[in-house]
Amino acid sequence: MGRGCASPAATSYKARRAAPGRMRGARVIVSGVVQMSKVLVIGAGGVGSVAVHKMAMNSDVFSHITLASRRRAKCEAIAASVEQRTGVNIETAELDADDVSATVALIERVKPALVVNLALPYQDLAIMDACLQGGVHYLDTANYEPRDEAKFEYSWQWAYQDRFREAGLMAVLGCGFDPGATSVFATYARKHLLDRIDTLDILDCNGGDHGHPFATNFNPEINLREVTAPSRHWEDGRWVEGPALSNKQVFDFAEVGPRNMYLMYHEELESLARFYPEIRRIRFWMTFGDSYLKHLEVLSNVGMTRIDPVSFQGIEIVPLQFLKALLPEPASLGAVTRGKTNIGVIATGLKDGEQKTVYVYNVCDHEEAYAETGSQAVSYTTGVPAMIGARLMLTGAWSGAGVFNMEQLDPDPFMAQMNSQGLPWQVRELPAPLTF
Ligand code: NDP
Repeated sequence: MGRGCASPAATSYKARRAAPGRMRGARVIVSGVVQMSKVLVIGAGGVGSVAVHKMAMNSDVFSHITLASRRRAKCEAIAASVEQRTGVNIETAELDADDVSATVALIERVKPALVVNLALPYQDLAIMDACLQGGVHYLDTANYEPRDEAKFEYSWQWAYQDRFREAGLMAVLGCGFDPGATSVFATYARKHLLDRIDTLDILDCNGGDHGHPFATNFNPEINLREVTAPSRHWEDGRWVEGPALSNKQVFDFAEVGPRNMYLMYHEELESLARFYPEIRRIRFWMTFGDSYLKHLEVLSNVGMTRIDPVSFQGIEIVPLQFLKALLPEPASLGAVTRGKTNIGVIATGLKDGEQKTVYVYNVCDHEEAYAETGSQAVSYTTGVPAMIGARLMLTGAWSGAGVFNMEQLDPDPFMAQMNSQGLPWQVRELPAPLTF
């Protein structure tokens, strides 16, 4: 179905059993304690699939789930898996979320308390507009990106601050793992472990092996835009830029082992720098294998990672979008990926006048994630935080009117949920700050 002709008509996958005391209304109090709510999830990729599976496992809060995406068949495949794994029936709908009026129509029909946007960053503003028109709260996992330029900045979404505040609605931005849990880890460290943070390093290691010479673990278009962008970190009140993938360090990750990691720009650097002006230096590191980098170099050199349209035999194609069509679907990697991810933050600062370095991190096993939800750990570590953020909003543990980044919200209920929802974290005190 092409853009602009979305069908907001959703079909009940099966009538959901109404348990005693349950209502399918937008937001109700059950037994005076738990609020149960309807949620509309947009995007039936790897992250959307994990989030919806986990919501179904949390049906005490998520009373009714509708999954909408560009292709209905993908929603239905996820719905079938959710029913088989959890016994919960969810509704599905076909939706082109670039079409604001189609999303508003779906919101009016479903009457959700919250829209969870797990489509692509290109849809963020259209879905935020639809939430304002439909009068519902909003949550996403990645900041808005224009299609024709890699920006990775929050300016467009921060511009919605007044509109959400005046409407009395809450928009939570970047509630995945990174961005997401990493900012929560930093906020937790600042609240409980350090009186002041001087330097912060975010370390993202995927120690998984999917057996393909080249594939990306989440949407290839977004992933390759991110990796090929110049590196940038925050230091002494300004951004310091360098060539992409030019600063390599080795780090020994718990339960994974030593890996090469590279300095990169990542979107939470912007919100951390804004909400923690005390931090002198903030950096982001991600691990890459040699085979991935070799392929990436060749693909970049021949122009296959370009995001501007080129003319080919009379038609315009965007090379990166064409490359995406050739690569394995990230969702298909789940069954074949072995190993673990380790993502965390290292913060150095002062505690009771003494210098202290703390490391807060989570290790997630690809095979365990797949066994539980049918998706590998990269989707799992994003979809679970999205579900947790949605849960906290629906139960009122997180509330407010306006646009919020993760650094602005209480980390404690989020950290507690991570432990009980499959993403347990550890805190280690390191003997010394990082030396690189
Ligand atoms: P996928 O590409 O696997 O899934 C995206 C889904 O959105 C697809 O089902 C796609 O439909 C659907 N979609 C795309 N355009 C539209 C549209 N116009 N209307 C409705 N649906 C649409 O991506 P992922 O699941 O890997 O990632 C989802 C989001 O999570 C992305 O924004 C990504 O950047 C973010 N992310 C965040 C991370 C974090 O830690 N914060 C980490 C990883 C990802 P179709 O199937 O038809 O293509």
